[in-house]
Amino acid sequence: MNLPKDIDFTNRLKAFFQQPNKAMLIDDEWTLGSTNRRIEVFNPATEKVIGTVPLAEKEDVDKAVQSAKQAFQSREWRKMLPSDRERLLHRLADLIAQNADTLAQIITLENGKILAQAKASDVMGAVETFRYYAGWCTKIEGETIDVSMKQPAGKQNFAFTRREPIGVVAAIVPWNFPISIAAWKLAPALAAGCTVVLKPSEETPLSSLLLGELILEAGFPKGVVNIVTGDGTTGASLVSNPNISKITFTGSTQTGKHIGRAAMDNLTELSLELGGKSPVIVCQDADLSEAAKGIAMGIFRNQGQVCVAGSRVYIQNKVFDKVMAEVALLGQKMKISHGFDPSADLAPLVSAAHLDKVSAYVKTGIEEGSTLISGGKRPKTKGFYLEPTIFTDTDNKKRLIQEEIFGPVLVGVPFDTIENALELANDSKLGLASSVWTKDISTAHTFIDALQAGWVFVNAPPRSDPHFPMGGYKQSGFGGRELGKAGLYQYTTLKAVNIVF
Ligand code: NDP
Repeated sequence: MNLPKDIDFTNRLKAFFQQPNKAMLIDDEWTLGSTNRRIEVFNPATEKVIGTVPLAEKEDVDKAVQSAKQAFQSREWRKMLPSDRERLLHRLADLIAQNADTLAQIITLENGKILAQAKASDVMGAVETFRYYAGWCTKIEGETIDVSMKQPAGKQNFAFTRREPIGVVAAIVPWNFPISIAAWKLAPALAAGCTVVLKPSEETPLSSLLLGELILEAGFPKGVVNIVTGDGTTGASLVSNPNISKITFTGSTQTGKHIGRAAMDNLTELSLELGGKSPVIVCQDADLSEAAKGIAMGIFRNQGQVCVAGSRVYIQNKVFDKVMAEVALLGQKMKISHGFDPSADLAPLVSAAHLDKVSAYVKTGIEEGSTLISGGKRPKTKGFYLEPTIFTDTDNKKRLIQEEIFGPVLVGVPFDTIENALELANDSKLGLASSVWTKDISTAHTFIDALQAGWVFVNAPPRSDPHFPMGGYKQSGFGGRELGKAGLYQYTTLKAVNIVF
């Protein structure tokens, strides 16, 4: 076991890693899968392997889906009292909270992120999400409808709708917030009465396997949650299984398009939460120092591996140099260290491959003629680190400004008028989040009205909340919103009933 030596790991974590060759959860059994093909999981800070997980083949995926299908059809789950389902979701939330330190440590080990952030955003975020959707179990309602269709003479009628669980859900999640994004899918799907096959990213499967242990401890009926580990081929087998009723995916726009095509073969319901290239707009009347802090936090938190990261910032001409200088200073002051260092501000990126991808963008930026004003280098130490990196440019068509980098790389562009800022901000095929810094409420409303993005934050960097629907315009999303009431309804289907009597 290659765990770092000088960290005070919890006893549960030590027990978890006593068997570093983990099994996956199918039909309430821990299984190594049908072949002995395995995937290595790395610690991005040490570049060492910390464990392995099975690579689920199609046969394993089919078993997991079959288990979820049987669990969906069984009366035990579908007919469980909503208040009992609510109690189970609260019980799972309690168990996650009780094991928050262990889960956070596993996330830091496999993803590299800062421990305090893993605990606050990922783990406690998941707790809040399970609690929020626990409350919905008892509030899923249909409507009565006074229909106009003629009924047989002398007869009356009663027409109504029922909101029913959609069926077996395939939930595919990325590596950047492995547990909270899993919760965004699991919690509403379970609250609605669905059963789930969860597929974590190959980079971060271990935290989901501990979540699986907690799901078993909570006492959900057999097969209600299955967890298959593997790579993109595992995900591809899952989304093409005809017994899946709903695919919910968070990941890159490119993979989302593949999944969309596979879903159409079976006409499976689909929702995609995809990439972002979110604009930040700073008007000259804004609190500039707050805006600079918000920009730095928006792009450097989680090493920029955040779908809503504000990665292109448009600043009004008059204050452009001042704000960019302040953001550069904040970036330079950040301490780069491993996620278990309590004084770390910036931890490693998730993998060697991802670091290469982000570093290639830095090179492209320089080659395309953008001006590098800060960072851009890899510190000479083990681990997949990259300095907070800041460019400026005036050409909105550059790849650095148009393509999602998903790392700690920011580009600043000056603007003249509000119309000019809107044109630049909306000039993108993506439309996930946005933020605007201004003290003028009418300027704020002009942006709120015209920005093509699923989120507009005014005077704050974007942040998620279980009650707050999330999703993208344009190629940032497809098929509805996650979180909030909209996130619940994704996992229900409407049946309209007319009784004549
Ligand atoms: P990917 O699209 O590469 O992968 C996402 C998930 O899909 C992983 O579990 C992956 O498995 C799986 N997968 C890969 N190929 C297939 C396939 N053909 N069929 C089915 N599943 C497949 O994204 P990343 O994991 O690299 O995550 C980063 C991306 O996620 C960024 O683009 C980011 O913007 C986006 N994201 C969007 C969010 C939103 O809410 N809009 C939130 C967070 C991230 P494996 O990893 O094992 O290959």
